[in-house]
Amino acid sequence: MRLFDTLTRTERDLRPIDGSTYRFYCCGPTVYGPAHIGNFRTFVLQDVLRRVLETGGTRTLHVRNITDVDDKTIRDSQKAGQSLTDFTRGWTEKFHADCDKLGLLAPHIEPGAVEHIPQQIEMIRQLVEKGHAYASDDGSVYFKISSFPGYGRLSHLDERELDLGKTQNARANADEYEKDSVSDFVLWKARRPEDGDNFWASPWGEGRPGWHLECSAMIREYLGEDFDLHSGGVDLVFPHHENEIAQSVCSCGGHFAAHWFHITHLLVDGGKMSKSLGNLYTLEDLEKRGHSAMEVRYVLIGGHYRKQLNFTLDSLTAAREALAKLAKGARHLASKCGGEVVLDSVSFGPFQAAWDSLNDDLNTPAALGGLFTGLRETSQLTGRDAAAALAGLNRVLRALGLSLPEEKDEAVEIPEHIRALAETRWQARLSKNWAESDRLRAELTELGWLMKDGKESYELSQA
Ligand code: AMP
Ligand code: ZN
Repeated sequence: MRLFDTLTRTERDLRPIDGSTYRFYCCGPTVYGPAHIGNFRTFVLQDVLRRVLETGGTRTLHVRNITDVDDKTIRDSQKAGQSLTDFTRGWTEKFHADCDKLGLLAPHIEPGAVEHIPQQIEMIRQLVEKGHAYASDDGSVYFKISSFPGYGRLSHLDERELDLGKTQNARANADEYEKDSVSDFVLWKARRPEDGDNFWASPWGEGRPGWHLECSAMIREYLGEDFDLHSGGVDLVFPHHENEIAQSVCSCGGHFAAHWFHITHLLVDGGKMSKSLGNLYTLEDLEKRGHSAMEVRYVLIGGHYRKQLNFTLDSLTAAREALAKLAKGARHLASKCGGEVVLDSVSFGPFQAAWDSLNDDLNTPAALGGLFTGLRETSQLTGRDAAAALAGLNRVLRALGLSLPEEKDEAVEIPEHIRALAETRWQARLSKNWAESDRLRAELTELGWLMKDGKESYELSQA
């Protein structure tokens, strides 16, 4: 499989460094509210990457963290009058429930920042010892970016218009800071009154870790100094990932991630999502409007990850129709198998092009297109050929993480005259006019509709 790499700006092969397991890390959610569909664009694409690797026979080790302590979680837990632990537990559970509905595979390891305070303190200690970090008067500790010549390679800082002279001696203490300035960033934040109970002891006094540090510490704990791939939304390239590289390389040595996979942002109605504009959607918002999580997933994989994707409510309706069409095609193919079953096939048959698209820089829209083209090619297949094609289709669907709607979920339009015939027959049956009832049933069957009688009503289905 080939995938674009942010650092080298080239498409490169994905092969496990250790020759056996592809080990990758994704920056996870900050659990202070429900994740929005932009966040899920990133998580869904990371899930497709994993599924494609696994479908292609590569074992994976997927680590994704939970940010359960930072400026926002502390602020909002206090607003909610809850302890930080209770507050973040609730939002973590909500995140997991949304992930399940969207068909996201659970990461193999999902570490939380609070559980890894000692590892973060140890990393700061090493950075201070090696001259890459310094304590300020208030007891905070900063990373000294002038001590790391590699700073800025990932985000190609040298090509950007930054006033380095002006910003070099600046320091940033907030977890998130201006994207157009380069500054020493905080590793340990000295305790402030507004932190409430949320502080820990350290060699530099009470406080808590800076946001950028947790990923570096957890990566070292679970993946070591060199690992295969690191991923997040494109907003994380700078400064978050740049800072992670600085922290990890300067404290432990090693190369850190061999490959960087960044997902471009989701836009809504052509612009940035924001609460104030009323266009920030969560999965629950869309479910309340009658859409399924699979429809949302379909929309999210409907654009290439390196391009902006514009979400509209209409795109969900189009996704519903596309999923119904795929389901119908899959059922037709299944009906042609004549009892033959091919459980897993190494070839993809008519769905080879769809599979190839996934391996070519994770081109999900091309893969979706390939499913429809493949289905058209299968229309004449029967027996074992149909069964093999069905196995190929199912493999690509698995790689995309799509489950197709059951037949009953599809809204089958019953024509008015059929409905009228059925109603007349039901009345005949109720008045025990058996001959007329039988005649009308036969007429319905002739027209391709089956009428199943219940005690109090009936059901119509297509024959
Ligand atoms: P957060 O919970 O804010 O730390 O974000 C979780 C993930 O979602 C990160 O990888 C972000 O880069 C990503 N993300 C945030 N907003 C968007 C968006 N509009 N489209 C795609 N990914 C996003
Ligand atoms: Zn991170």
